[in-house]
Amino acid sequence: MNNHLRSENDFLRQRLEALLCEARQNESKMRRFDQLQHRLIGADSLPELIHLLLFEYRVVFEVEFVTLALVDREYEVTRAMENVPGDDAAESGLTLLQSPDALLALYDGKRGPHLGAFDPIHHRALFNAPPGAIASVALLPLTRHGELIGSLHSGSANPERYIAGCGTDFLERLAEIIAICLENTLAQERLKMLGLTDALTGVQNRRCFDHRCLVEISQARRHDQPLACMFLDIDKFKHINDTYGHPTGDEVLMSVASFIQSQLRVGDTIARYGGEEFVVLLPQTDLRHAGQIAERIRTCIAEKQLSAISGQPINLTISIGISMLPVEGPAAENRHLADRMVAAADKALYRAKNGGRNRVVCEHDASIKQQNCP
Ligand code: GH3
Ligand code: MG
Ligand code: MG
Repeated sequence: MNNHLRSENDFLRQRLEALLCEARQNESKMRRFDQLQHRLIGADSLPELIHLLLFEYRVVFEVEFVTLALVDREYEVTRAMENVPGDDAAESGLTLLQSPDALLALYDGKRGPHLGAFDPIHHRALFNAPPGAIASVALLPLTRHGELIGSLHSGSANPERYIAGCGTDFLERLAEIIAICLENTLAQERLKMLGLTDALTGVQNRRCFDHRCLVEISQARRHDQPLACMFLDIDKFKHINDTYGHPTGDEVLMSVASFIQSQLRVGDTIARYGGEEFVVLLPQTDLRHAGQIAERIRTCIAEKQLSAISGQPINLTISIGISMLPVEGPAAENRHLADRMVAAADKALYRAKNGGRNRVVCEHDASIKQQNCP
């Protein structure tokens, strides 16, 4: 009986020690993960983020081999990495792919991370490692908006490090964060690369809009979602310049741009299309909802009294034309749809001006007298 109790005691003690050890390891893993996560989120360029993933990740997680594959259809990552001194992409473990096909084949339709023994047939090409150096691997698919944008691979000499069937919650969360950081830094690179901000108002300029428009159209078509386009033009702006002077006119432009922006969601786009003309893209927004947003902007601007530098109040109104992304077959080019959508919004704006200004007109509106969209 005593012997039985003693052995049960020993067993429990060992179990407790094992659990404590696991808890300590988990705690240390979480701490390291937290630190890396902060650094990933804080990365303010794509090269910095890639460096963190290929080098810091290896150090933080004490893993021998780490490589990264990114889908780079538009050569944006290639261009961003071109200016990084002394970083040979292949040597550093970065592979850029023109399509996600190789990654889709790697994950074979499965969504989450893959953990398991190193398989030379499928895994050798992922690592630039000598034969026998890797015993187990963790492969993390990086996905945004349901699309595979890359894949992060860790290879360990320890066969027990990554075991098939082990919990992958932590890795899944990490993969999500990495994918978001990649998307964000890529967006920053795009802005930097094209110099796409309007100097006066701080919103995107027309070139940026042209690019953004194609991206939004492609997203909207892929997910079969509506996309609304708004053209906004300040009424009789020449008169404001003539009356209060050009510097005040500039202030009015800045204030109108920032007001429109304040009325939009994070994923919406606002750009300065020309002198006193702005364009807005509203993803996942139907005509009715776009009409309501436009009407709210119009009313607020008409009611909001701006002040000139002299302190004199300035009454301002704005006219708005709205169009929707035209629905066409898959053969239609995004560029062609963008041209049609922009032309339709511009035409609606023209009708708003002709109808007396200070109004919202939607494409296909039968009457330009009405001020509200359906
Ligand atoms: P409408 O109601 O028909 O739109 O009349 P409008 O006077 O607003 O339009 P018009 O196209 O005749 O004049 C636009 C004016 O906007 C003329 C131009 O000098 C002025 N403008 C364009 N860019 C700027 C700018 O950056 N700053 C200032 N202050 N004015 C600008
Ligand atoms: Mg105008
Ligand atoms: Mg104009």
